[in-house]
Amino acid sequence: MSTIAANLSEIRERINRAALHAGRNPDEITLIGVSKNQPAESIREAWSAGLSHFGENRVQEWEAKRSQLAGVAGRFTIHLIGHLQSNKAARASRAFDSIDSLDDFSLAQKLNRVVADDPTASKLPVLVEVHIGGEESKTGVALEALPQLAERILEFPFLRLQGLMCIPPFAENPEDARSHFAQLRELKEKLEAHLGIPLPRLSMGMSHDFEIAISEGATEIRVGTALFGSRVIP
Ligand SMILES: *Cc1c(COP(=O)(O)O)cnc(C)c1O
Repeated sequence: MSTIAANLSEIRERINRAALHAGRNPDEITLIGVSKNQPAESIREAWSAGLSHFGENRVQEWEAKRSQLAGVAGRFTIHLIGHLQSNKAARASRAFDSIDSLDDFSLAQKLNRVVADDPTASKLPVLVEVHIGGEESKTGVALEALPQLAERILEFPFLRLQGLMCIPPFAENPEDARSHFAQLRELKEKLEAHLGIPLPRLSMGMSHDFEIAISEGATEIRVGTALFGSRVIP
């Protein structure tokens, strides 16, 4: 078995254990393999081992890798999980199945417009990235601005708001992230009540803290180094 396949099966076991421990069904949790700074070959390997969701944080990097994945790209779900500049909105909407890092009204407006302009495109799934954990974390919409941004996204006919995402500040002890994960879950529940729609996706937890995120309600976790090893492309 390759290292990636072995890592994948170990991570799946950890997901199962964490879910069962939290009284949850492991099938509710989607594993996203974060392949940023990893070669296309690693994606192929993880896909062959059964992984069906990947995350990249830059449009250009994914476009380059996609061209090396003939026969494989298009057969899994690819998420944009990094900050998106609005001048790349059109390319991102074509290259990704879901934009998981939406944090700004004008970007939402731009994405809606580029999808509207493409007659072959269907509604684009999005998550709003929330700024959780104070000054140390730099991306995401401020807590106070979340309800209004979510309301306005709902008015865009070509975007489908599906949930929330966060990247809490790095903490040596994964337990320190627990309160941030709990906060994102509570925000999601409040927002569902406020908007009157279900928000099925809660994207939180990375290599060193995904078990904590699962115990706080994550429906998808984003795992890079634990699956692929150290990032190799600078
Ligand atoms: C890099 C990255 C990850 C994965 O981090 P690891 O610690 O390698 O698991 C998850 N989410 C986002 C947004 C990232 O940029």
